[in-house]
Amino acid sequence: MRFLSAPWCHCCGLPFEHEVPGEPLCGACLAAPPRFDLLRSAVAYGGLSTELVLKLKYSRALGTARMMAGHMARLLPDMPDDALLTPVPLHWTRLFGRTYNQSVLIGQALASRLDRPFHPALLTRCKRTPPLRAMGAKARARAVQGAFAMTDRQKALAAGRAIILVDDVHTSGATTSACASLLKRNGARWVGVVTWARVL
Ligand SMILES: [Zn+2]
Repeated sequence: MRFLSAPWCHCCGLPFEHEVPGEPLCGACLAAPPRFDLLRSAVAYGGLSTELVLKLKYSRALGTARMMAGHMARLLPDMPDDALLTPVPLHWTRLFGRTYNQSVLIGQALASRLDRPFHPALLTRCKRTPPLRAMGAKARARAVQGAFAMTDRQKALAAGRAIILVDDVHTSGATTSACASLLKRNGARWVGVVTWARVL
């Protein structure tokens, strides 16, 4: 597995080949600043890290969630101490035959390891989105538009808080950007993202 570490983009954690002084940003973050404040991933997606994602997705392997959380824990010191951890939600139809969201398992393991607050559903996924992998950036943004919503209770929980979204894999950022933007519109003061793997 390839563990990700600095030098990397100060905002989205994209690894750089060489050391860059200061708080450097990658081309994508310079061109269009993301809606989240900080994104960090533990490992590059591919090989063993992908097998672990699939294992967690289809076999509720709690030991795997704890192992992932162990590697992700080192990414949290860059984020506010009082941040509330919450998973990127799945649409309810995706839960058929699975009964659980793998990001909930990772988020719970991470929160209990670091003694941080955790909320299993700070956002609601109200639209099922097609697979985003084959789409361009604009099509992805369109596909996730209106995909998430917050109830009045969820809005009250998010107001004024720092929030860390937990996900298994970071691909294009369209989903996490949509979540971050909704949380900020509803008063979250800071939104970070932490994922197990990142597609490079
Ligand atoms: Zn970046």
